[in-house]
Amino acid sequence: MATVPKSTAPLRPAGVAPLVPRIAPREELNPFRIAQIQFDMAAEFLKLDPSLRQILRTPKRVLEVSVPTKMDNGQVKVLTGYRVQHNVARGPGKGGIRYHPNVTLDEVKAMAAWMTWKTAAVNVPFGGAKGGVICDPKRMSKSELERMTRRYASEILPIIGPDQDIPAPDMYTDAQTMAWIMDTYAMTVGHAAPGVVTGKPLSVGGSAGRTDATARGLLCVVEEACKLKKIPLRGASVAIQGFGNVGSAAARLFAEKKARIVAISDTRGGVANPRGIDPIKAIRYKERSGTVVGMPGASRISNDDLLTMKCDILVPAALEGVLTLHNADQVKARIVAEAANGPTTPHADEVLVRRGITILPDILTNAGGVTVSYFEWVQNQQGLIWDAEEVDARLQKTMTRAFHEMLETMRKHHVPPRAGAMILAVGRVAEATLVRGLFP
Ligand code: NAD
Repeated sequence: MATVPKSTAPLRPAGVAPLVPRIAPREELNPFRIAQIQFDMAAEFLKLDPSLRQILRTPKRVLEVSVPTKMDNGQVKVLTGYRVQHNVARGPGKGGIRYHPNVTLDEVKAMAAWMTWKTAAVNVPFGGAKGGVICDPKRMSKSELERMTRRYASEILPIIGPDQDIPAPDMYTDAQTMAWIMDTYAMTVGHAAPGVVTGKPLSVGGSAGRTDATARGLLCVVEEACKLKKIPLRGASVAIQGFGNVGSAAARLFAEKKARIVAISDTRGGVANPRGIDPIKAIRYKERSGTVVGMPGASRISNDDLLTMKCDILVPAALEGVLTLHNADQVKARIVAEAANGPTTPHADEVLVRRGITILPDILTNAGGVTVSYFEWVQNQQGLIWDAEEVDARLQKTMTRAFHEMLETMRKHHVPPRAGAMILAVGRVAEATLVRGLFP
């Protein structure tokens, strides 16, 4: 049975309840199976009824679409896209759209489920959804991306809308992508509908503070954890895998707090400097050369070495499934702050927790983005415009409250952070599902 975490170090429980009750003998790498394992663990703690479990572990709706796209050379490529709505018991579906060659339906289903738990963990009135198109955005021109986006938007249009399901950016999609989706939607329905997507440009109803929101939320969660673990952020060493929207903003915000960014990376590899990398210089270098690799004043490091290098805080901010049984016993960070969705497999999770490493779970740690997306949607629905100070203050309040609610749940059930966040979130969704009752 579980032992009680030491009250002085509640994020570093000595002996904890197993994260994965009936762990598979082989490491599970399928993201949707991983999402289900995480759900089953929370359902077990909450003693949920079997039929309720069945409802909550299955997506509500899965849409697969063909996206015929005219390329610049005149040829038509037929791409595949998905939109998955996992659960809408607490509000309209909410979740990003990913463009990547490795998108799979199971990945989109997993991310939709994580969105359900994420919106519940920070207690914003949304459900969980996610979308993706299997494509190689780095090899597509802007006009090809626009045509693909508009066709994909029109194919998923019957199931999206400000009160139905609200997309946002994810990997390799951005504010421009959202503007195209919003325009396609508005032209089709015949009226303005800024609340159909979030993460839009400011000029068409985007929110101040959205670009940095995920990184700002992450920083807030890390700061709270550092207080409990008595790690001063000033001078703390931070390694970040992935230098896109989230990773680069996180680097900048950590540096503003006087933490040392000792390594950063992208698809082509990484760079390290134990004395610290200037994130602004790295952002400028990446803008010019397309990668951080080769930037002056830092030595070359592989993505694998970055994950296992000595540092106080490790931030995986790229893809899922990067911390596995192969490297979990070599991770030297004291805190793993999950910016990416699903970067840690359940087996790796177990190893890291047993080694006393604090894993700040994705569904809370990267929830700043969806929190400010919620603020953007509120502003759109009500015709309001909030300034950056107001948005940041509300974000700070939401993230801090959610962190402490996770902490309370951890103490109540004697579990590490991921289990605490999942039990909190699944409990909220279960309650909403039960009180609404089964239709018809
Ligand atoms: P992005 O496309 O802006 O950046 C992704 C970065 O990861 C790029 O620097 C890319 O080079 C790097 N990368 C891709 N594959 C890699 C690999 N195999 N090894 C190392 N680096 C690799 O995406 P983003 O918006 O910054 O999202 C990053 C992660 O954060 C994703 O998992 C996403 O789901 C998650 N997330 C993003 C948001 C958001 O608001 N953008 C919110 C919550 C979670």
